[in-house]
Amino acid sequence: MSNASHTALDLPDEIARRRTFAIISHPDAGKTTLTEKFLLYGGAIQMAGQVRAKGEARRTRSDFMQMEKDRGISVSASAMSFDFGKYRFNLVDTPGHSDFSEDTYRTLTAVDAAIMVIDGAKGVESQTQKLFEVCRMRDLPILTFCNKMDRESRDTFEIIDEIQENLAIDVTPASWPIGVGRDFVGCYDILNDRLELMDRADRNKVAESVKIDGLDDPRLAEHVPAELLEQLKEELEMARELLPAFDRDAFLEGSMTPIWFGSAINSFGVKELMDGMGDYGPLPQVQTAQPRSISPDEKKVMGFVFKVQANMDPKHRDRVAFVRMASGHFKRGMKLTHVRSKKQMAISNPVLFLASDRELAEEAWAGDIIGIPNHGQLRIGDTLTEGEDIRVTGIPSFAPELLQSVRAGDPMKSKHLEKALMQFAEEGAAKVFKPAIGSGFIVGVVGALQFEVLASRIELEYGLPVRFGQSQFTSARWVTGPKDKVDAFVSINQQHISHDHNGDIVYMTRLQWDIDRVQRDYPELTLSATRELM
Ligand code: GDP
Repeated sequence: MSNASHTALDLPDEIARRRTFAIISHPDAGKTTLTEKFLLYGGAIQMAGQVRAKGEARRTRSDFMQMEKDRGISVSASAMSFDFGKYRFNLVDTPGHSDFSEDTYRTLTAVDAAIMVIDGAKGVESQTQKLFEVCRMRDLPILTFCNKMDRESRDTFEIIDEIQENLAIDVTPASWPIGVGRDFVGCYDILNDRLELMDRADRNKVAESVKIDGLDDPRLAEHVPAELLEQLKEELEMARELLPAFDRDAFLEGSMTPIWFGSAINSFGVKELMDGMGDYGPLPQVQTAQPRSISPDEKKVMGFVFKVQANMDPKHRDRVAFVRMASGHFKRGMKLTHVRSKKQMAISNPVLFLASDRELAEEAWAGDIIGIPNHGQLRIGDTLTEGEDIRVTGIPSFAPELLQSVRAGDPMKSKHLEKALMQFAEEGAAKVFKPAIGSGFIVGVVGALQFEVLASRIELEYGLPVRFGQSQFTSARWVTGPKDKVDAFVSINQQHISHDHNGDIVYMTRLQWDIDRVQRDYPELTLSATRELM
């Protein structure tokens, strides 16, 4: 989504009020807690604690498997919609486990902004940094929430410096913490000249806020102990000199991040962050596509699949394709063209993911995320339109970096295994290759933990014990070119040829030398490490 339109477009109110974003963080920084408070303020859940099961469940590797067993929970939390004041928030969950998968990257193609949560005592951690880099590739606007201010945390300037240096982004304080740890009393809201006081007694209560007329207002002294007030004034003066003021354009371009300080568990600072997302966050953005980009204000409905989740109910082999609406006003029952197959699909039972449950989506606007149950027609990267031949671009596909061979424990179950693997391939959970010669399959992933997750899911969802083992190959390259040249190449390189789940031809080897040789000997062929998702 390009940034050209951030403020230029005149969108219908229903679209203009939508804010679609993800939360990025390192495990344990407080993403689950913050999500929970968002939903609480959004009125989507009655009581904090309902998303907790998920947060706790991802503590350890085996617990992650347990979470995967309980697909219901992880799915209902994949995309959540709720209203906050005049805004409609769509919060898209990034997969929580620490192993990086393509899923994480793709999720970030479906949002217009991200909230980066950091732990006030730990600062920018590895996973945050990685996810930040992905956001940066797309120039996503980022709001920062520095969490756990109720505990001993680093000096405010030090935290801001670390973000500026490690992430090479300008940081502007939207609020300023008063006191640290036990002495933390609240924040000065710089954007609104308000004093926000934290109530330690009631964690689910919205903080008390006191309207202040600048820093000389005598009411400040009524709420803040004298020495803390002194310090606050000094620090704010220094901040004004050393740090840039909030600049909405710089924020929307992704070169500046406003930072709020707070404590998610104490419900503190959360509302201000949500106000920030609503008031300054980007409206639904233009989506890059071929042969032209899609503007959210177009009348015709368009959307694209960024995630597929299968086996949500192990008894029914259904799948849900998560679709980000790119334009128009969708109504349930609409017939949309599935551009890849050129077939029409009646979208009769789309779901909207409300916090605790899924519900039928009667309508959706550009910016919304809907789930479309289907039997496998919808794949990641697919575009749905009202007939126009247009394809959304920029959904990343990653080179499988680790390859392993896989066999069913019981050789008679090979067909069964094939079906399971194809399903995971379509879901985007792994790349699956069927060698032209011999039996068995080769599975390619980006991170090693994915093998374990796959083995566990195949056993759980298909009742099929499997064995992963070393593969004779270490690299996979998709082969494209004129048909006769490809055919000639395939026929004399059979022992290196596989087909992926789409039937596309893949050349496999363990030697870079082989790849160089093919490129030299077959100049008309292209060998690529990824297959572009269109
Ligand atoms: P996630 O892994 O990023 O989803 O983190 P969680 O939301 O599960 O939080 C990790 C841990 O930090 C949990 O034990 C939370 O109770 C705790 N936590 C979250 N927010 C705060 C906070 O504001 N202050 C303190 N002291 N602890 C917090």
